[in-house]
Amino acid sequence: MAVDELIELGKDILFPRRCPVCDEVMVFRSGLICKTCKPRVIPVRQPFCACCGKPLISSEAELCKICMVESRAFDKARAAVIYNDAAARIILDMKDNNKRENTDFIAECIIERLSKELKMFGAEGIIPVPLDEDAYMRRGFNQSELIALKLSKYLHIPIYNSVVKRLKAAKQQKSLDLNGRRKNLKRSFIIQKNDVKLKRVILVDDVYTTGCTADELSSVLKSKGVNSVMVVTFATGVPK
Ligand SMILES: [Zn+2]
Ligand SMILES: [Zn+2]
Repeated sequence: MAVDELIELGKDILFPRRCPVCDEVMVFRSGLICKTCKPRVIPVRQPFCACCGKPLISSEAELCKICMVESRAFDKARAAVIYNDAAARIILDMKDNNKRENTDFIAECIIERLSKELKMFGAEGIIPVPLDEDAYMRRGFNQSELIALKLSKYLHIPIYNSVVKRLKAAKQQKSLDLNGRRKNLKRSFIIQKNDVKLKRVILVDDVYTTGCTADELSSVLKSKGVNSVMVVTFATGVPK
């Protein structure tokens, strides 16, 4: 047995994994989620919007209602699972209760569902959606960066986490409607340096809600020489 496998084994024995949804201690080496909770995490399946990746009610249209009337700065967005109670638990525990090991399950879901599309996109770099300084100091880590690191390792594509800086927005996004969100995000992303001259990038975030964050960041990247952006998230909200 190789040294790193031994270390992993030691970790599994000393700190048994817990299910990311119900927090029950898992049977030794039985996977990353318990049998009861597995069906509660629902993959995004066809039909979904060709642009933003949100599930569609019927397969007749290629795009969702929003993407039909509005253009997006990113080329496409894809999510691994539907944002439901189970997905929310996984994300909130990761962000607010410091359950960083949840990123293992999140990365596994993204790879399982999107590996082919991510590889075909042929990105030169992966950029995690940054947090502003206050949020980073409060949490101590950027969840998108942890997910991006795992994807970077799997896809053998370098991660660039100092290309973009995020300034503190005036208001909390959650409290705003669509137009309010857009205005609030304007000028909140600054390209620090794109001296690597990236042309095709994968943006990584935990959740896709209205797409405003991904859209604003993509438009800033494109104004600085990036040609194509694929957004990838763990979960996506279902359109109302
Ligand atoms: Zn469970
Ligand atoms: Zn759409």
